[in-house]
Amino acid sequence: MKQISMNVESRKKALRYFFGKVVDPLGFKFTPDEELMNFLLEQEVILEGKHGIPFCPCQPLRHDRSRDMQIVCPCIPFHRNHFDSIKRCWCGLFVHKDVLDPDKLPQLPPVEVSHE
Ligand code: SF4
Repeated sequence: MKQISMNVESRKKALRYFFGKVVDPLGFKFTPDEELMNFLLEQEVILEGKHGIPFCPCQPLRHDRSRDMQIVCPCIPFHRNHFDSIKRCWCGLFVHKDVLDPDKLPQLPPVEVSHE
């Protein structure tokens, strides 16, 4: 049991490092909410263990490869217009770099935003 939780922790750390490198040039950063970040990364490690890919923890898999590949974390490039308009990704794992308090951000459903 200890070995499993160690593996989850080390994989979370690796994803955190890798994702940070990917989202930085896109103008995003990890949410300052550490508890949320830890929870979401842990869910991604579990999804990765199950499917071999760190899918989004807050979006359903549709078992349609082309659609599912658009919810592989970090999915920012696929949903850029929407995320830029709300300054965060759907799950809230990433926010725009200037966001200090994610709780104050508006929640816009995708239909209110023009898609790429
Ligand atoms: S919504 Fe956020 S957490 Fe979910 S896949 Fe996209 S970037 Fe990752």
